[in-house]
Amino acid sequence: MVKSNCRPSAGGIFRKKVMQLDAWKILRFDTLDSTNTEAKRRARAGDVARTLIIARQQTAGRGRMDRKWVSPMDAGLWMTQLFAPENVRARDASGAVFISAAALSQALRELTGAEVMVKWPNDLVLGGTKLCGMLAECGFDGDLCAWIALGSGLNLREDALPPELKFASSIQRQTGRLLSPEEILAAYLPAFDALEHIWEAEGLGPVIERIRPMSATLGREVRVNGEPARALDMDGDGALICEFADGVRRVLAGDVSVRGITDYV
Ligand code: ADP
Repeated sequence: MVKSNCRPSAGGIFRKKVMQLDAWKILRFDTLDSTNTEAKRRARAGDVARTLIIARQQTAGRGRMDRKWVSPMDAGLWMTQLFAPENVRARDASGAVFISAAALSQALRELTGAEVMVKWPNDLVLGGTKLCGMLAECGFDGDLCAWIALGSGLNLREDALPPELKFASSIQRQTGRLLSPEEILAAYLPAFDALEHIWEAEGLGPVIERIRPMSATLGREVRVNGEPARALDMDGDGALICEFADGVRRVLAGDVSVRGITDYV
């Protein structure tokens, strides 16, 4: 997805928004195939009201590129936020994942005191392990984003993850704290709403600045789809600026896998 920093000035579609965001309507399920899939079903049926969909377990949880997201019963916060952003261009919609990453890492830091980090672009990590993955899926109305289904899968409990997920861990294992979904949402949703407001009014740049000090990727040797590189910076669109053997290139979120040279982070 090619993105741009330039935004039309006052009077264009990006007028500053001063109104309050609506509250989240919360829908709870015992079992869903996938909270993102449920959100997409609703959006495609025309219901894009601001909704938070939570399942106690997912039978077909998904990561990027249809990779499986393991989501056992009551082991994590498996949720999708369905919302219709104001004045976000279709090509900028994938920026939503940085809003949830910034807001959820901030909320978890407040609740646990632990230095939860953001592994570019869509994972939360702690102690070199993966606590949370995020997935944004979007619907378009011409050049504008009509709706976003923004999924987050956060591992809460230590005993529930299969051993084959060798980089996976939980808040409980890393901090000793068993947090409830409710206390996380109470800290997370206001932080998300504030950052969404900033995104819609000013673009992604200020959100990226919040992530920068919490980045587990910047300054590190990484592999980008297997190719060794050094992660130098993130730009205002959320692209990762990497130095490869043959020069510096922008890496766009979406279809790349970034790993540490020897470990996950
Ligand atoms: P990436 O690791 O490239 O960011 P995704 O964000 O799409 O990929 O996440 C999917 C991957 O995460 C899966 O292929 C699997 O390795 C791993 N995974 C699946 N379920 C979990 C989980 N509950 N906790 C941590 N990692 C998981």
